[in-house]
Amino acid sequence: MTCPVCAYPDMPYPPADYNICPCCGTEFGNDDAMLSHDQLRAQWLANGAGWFFGNPPVGWNPYMQLILGQLLPPLLVNVAPTDDTVAGLVVRQGNYDLVAA
Ligand SMILES: [Zn+2]
Repeated sequence: MTCPVCAYPDMPYPPADYNICPCCGTEFGNDDAMLSHDQLRAQWLANGAGWFFGNPPVGWNPYMQLILGQLLPPLLVNVAPTDDTVAGLVVRQGNYDLVAA
C-alpha cells in the first residue's frame, strides 16, 4: 500500500479507516477529512518531511520517495551543493569561472 500523501510504498494497512502512515503520520479518515492529500503533503514538507513512527528505513530520503512516487517533480528538489543523481537526473551545482579570451 502506498501512502497518497508522502508516497511511502510499504504501508502495512490501506490508507483508510484511521490507519496511520508510519512515514508522514497522516491518520486517514481523520487528518484527510478536512485537508486534501496535497495540503497534507505541503504541511509535511513545510515541517521538514520527517519520519513519523520509530526509525526510518536505512537510506530513506523523503524527497526521493516523493519523486519515485511521482508526487514531486525532480526540478523542485533542493540538493546539497554536490553532484547528485536524483531519479536519473544528474543535478550539478558548482562554481563556473568565466575566462576572458
Ligand atoms: Zn505517508
